[in-house]
Amino acid sequence: MTGGRTKPRPPRRRPAADDLAKLGAPAGLCATCHHAAVLASRSSAFLRCAMAEVDPSFPKYPRLPVLACRGYERVAEGGTPA
Ligand code: SF4
Repeated sequence: MTGGRTKPRPPRRRPAADDLAKLGAPAGLCATCHHAAVLASRSSAFLRCAMAEVDPSFPKYPRLPVLACRGYERVAEGGTPA
């Protein structure tokens, strides 16, 4: 497939509080970051950083809590970056 438009990605929502609680450590900035996604099962969860897909200097699974980050983009409660 060539020359096609890429489909826009849906806006991300803040990770759910239940999933954040499964992380085992406070997420810090990642808890409210546009680039964070929580992959959760019944008993465990991992926080993945989408910035790692476009910039290899970001860890795919950041060490928590993240207290400072140059990629941080706060997401509003409704799911759009603030
Ligand atoms: S960009 Fe920074 S604050 Fe945002 S999810 Fe990645 S590591 Fe966390």
